[in-house]
Amino acid sequence: MPKLAFSHPEPPRSRRRLWPVFLPQAGCPHRCLFCDQSAQTGAEPAAPGDVLETLARRLENAAARGEEPFEVGFYGGTFTALPDGWPGRFLDLLRPYRAAGLVLGARCSTRPDAVSLDGLLDLKARGLDLVELGIQSFDDGALAASGRGYSGAMALEGCGIVRAAGLGLGVQLLPGLPGDRPGLFRRDVAVTARLRPDCARLYPCLVLEGTGLARLWRRGEYAAWSGGRARAELSVALTRLWRAGVPVIRLGVAPEAGLSVRILAGPAHPALGQQARSLALWDHVRRMAARLGRAPRGLLLPPRATGEFWGQRRSLARAYARLGLRADNVRPGGPDFVLE
Ligand code: SF4
Repeated sequence: MPKLAFSHPEPPRSRRRLWPVFLPQAGCPHRCLFCDQSAQTGAEPAAPGDVLETLARRLENAAARGEEPFEVGFYGGTFTALPDGWPGRFLDLLRPYRAAGLVLGARCSTRPDAVSLDGLLDLKARGLDLVELGIQSFDDGALAASGRGYSGAMALEGCGIVRAAGLGLGVQLLPGLPGDRPGLFRRDVAVTARLRPDCARLYPCLVLEGTGLARLWRRGEYAAWSGGRARAELSVALTRLWRAGVPVIRLGVAPEAGLSVRILAGPAHPALGQQARSLALWDHVRRMAARLGRAPRGLLLPPRATGEFWGQRRSLARAYARLGLRADNVRPGGPDFVLE
C-alpha cells in the first residue's frame, strides 16, 4: 500500500541565539491601554545611558568568555523614536563585536508610525538588520478602541517602509484587543500572510493590573479571550502563517517572574503556545491522512515532533484515534512524517 511522506508544516526558522536588551516604554509617545512593559519584560525602566553601559559590560564579558555568537534585539519600547541619536549609539556599540564575529545581527521592535525611510536607511547603515513592528491589528476599529494612534493603512505603510529600506520585517499581532469582533484576528492574519514578513509574534491580549485595560475590564467594558478561544485561534493562525512560509517566533507572552501576579484576565496559560502548535500539527496530519484516501495503518514520527504531537497531557490522543493513530502504531521515524 502506498505511504505518504510529508514534512513538519512549520517553515525553517533561525536558530540564532537572540540576546534581548530591554528599554521598557522608552521612546513611546504614550502608554498604550494594555501595556506594562516592565511586567512583560521583567526589566524596570532605565535611562538609555544606563542600558548602554550595562550592554557594553555584557558584551565585554561575552567576548572575554568566548561565548557563542548571538543576535542582539532591542525590545520593550519604540526603539526608532528614542531621542538624541540613541538608536545609532546602541548600534555603534555593537560594531566592533560584529566585526569580531560575536554579534551576528541586530533587530529592534518599534511602532509602525515611528519609522521613516531616511531614519531606517541610517540605522541600516549602522548595523540594523530587522525591524519588528508592533502592529497589533490592521483593523481601524480595534486600533481606535485601543488608542493606538494610527490606522490600519498606516500600519501597512510602516511595513512597506521597512521593506523599502531593505530591512527584514517582523510583524507582532495582539489578538483580542478592545474593539475585537468575530473574524477580525483571522483577517489580520490573512493580511500578515500576504505581507510574508520574515517572522511574526502573536500575543493574545492580557489584562494587566495598573493598565487602562484593567480599568475597562473592571467596569465590565472589556471581555478577555478565554484560553480555549486563544488556543483555537492561534492554531488557525499558525496554519495560515506556516503555509505562507512565515516563521512564528513567539506565541503568547514570555513567562516573566513578575508578570503572573499582575494578570487579571486573559489567556495566560504558560503552555498556550505549545498547545496551539500541537493543534496546528494535528490539523496538518488530519489533512495529510485525508489525502491518503484510506485509514492510516500507522505513522512514523520525526524526533523533533515527539514532544508536541500528542498535545499536553495527551489531550489530542482521542482526536488522533479518530484518524486511526494510536500509541501502538505511532512510532519514532526519520526526519519526515510517514503515514503508512
Ligand atoms: S508603543 Fe508598544 S511598548 Fe510603547 S506603550 Fe505602546 S505597546 Fe507599550
